[in-house]
Parts: sequence; C-alpha cells; structure tokens
Amino acid sequence: MPREIVTLACTECKRRNYTTKKDKRKTPARLEKKKFCRFDRKHTVHREVK
Ligand SMILES: [Zn+2]
Repeated sequence: MPREIVTLACTECKRRNYTTKKDKRKTPARLEKKKFCRFDRKHTVHREVK
C-alpha cells in the first residue's frame, strides 16, 4: 500500500504532535504543515519525521 501513516513533529519544540496519511508516490518529499502545537500554544511548522 503506497498510502502510509507519517508522523509530524513541531520544528520548534521537536515534539511529535500529529500523525497523518500520505501517498508516497504523489508526495515523495517531506511533508510540512502549519499546525497548532499545544506545547508552544501557537501555530508552528510541523515536519514529517520517520
Ligand atoms: Zn512545539
């Protein structure tokens, strides 16, 4: 199955706050999303981690 669960980590505090799914064939690059970090209590960029 090409659609896999990936983990998104906050780039500021490095905590892993979210999981999402992506199609690795469509988006081979590392995902970056602006999401709310409850530890920083603001929106930060969250990046895919392994
Ligand atoms: Zn954070």
